[in-house]
Amino acid sequence: MIARLRLDPGTSGIGLTSQRVRDRLIERLREQGIRNEHVLSAIRNVPRHVFMDEALAQRAYEDSAFPIGHGQTISQPWVVARMTELILDVPVPPRKVLEIGTGSGYQAAILASLGLQVHTVERIGALLRGARKVLRGLGYNVRSKHDDGRAGWAEHGPFDAIVVTAGAAALEPALLDQLAVGGTLVAPVGAGGTQTLLRVRREDDGQLRQDMLEPVVFVPLLAGVIDG
Ligand code: SAH
Repeated sequence: MIARLRLDPGTSGIGLTSQRVRDRLIERLREQGIRNEHVLSAIRNVPRHVFMDEALAQRAYEDSAFPIGHGQTISQPWVVARMTELILDVPVPPRKVLEIGTGSGYQAAILASLGLQVHTVERIGALLRGARKVLRGLGYNVRSKHDDGRAGWAEHGPFDAIVVTAGAAALEPALLDQLAVGGTLVAPVGAGGTQTLLRVRREDDGQLRQDMLEPVVFVPLLAGVIDG
């Protein structure tokens, strides 16, 4: 008798990128406090291994950050899930979102898979080219630009949500200026290697409300643009 293989689009269907391995990651994220079912489904469905180097792809469903070249990393699934659930935790769901630090494109894919209009900015040209290729290959419609994201993307603002995926000692004022009323910004803020996740909400009366949440680790938000 010939064994029949059921192949899942976007997964090999076998080995370490299989659905079972992804389900284990989802269980772990639940244990670590992620509650939003839409976010958990997005993490289950978006193939993280496609955003990683082949040599590391078998570890893609571990809850860890991994190198993606150029001294940068693909964020840990827990932190991607946490930032995403924070921007969704509002009375009126966001539609337009800005991400600073495209990196591998994984966080952008999670946001796009949730139906958000994603705008993302990356300072390293080679990473952006790679991310664009993967995102296009998976059919995600994401707007991206090669620039220093500290200035945001004013032409497309204001944004209902802003997700900063690189750490800085302080929040960039230009980003706050591009946050819509009712919108949420999340960013790792702090000096040295570790930062704290900062959430800023622009309330309906225009006032800003800030909450310092959990400790996180991100690569630094750097000035300028690199072509290579
Ligand atoms: N969101 C990414 C995480 C990548 S790590 C992912 O899901 O894979 C952070 C990224 O921020 C790196 O690619 C780094 O090059 C980029 N970065 C750092 N400073 C930046 C800046 N000023 N503008 C745009 N991107 C920046």
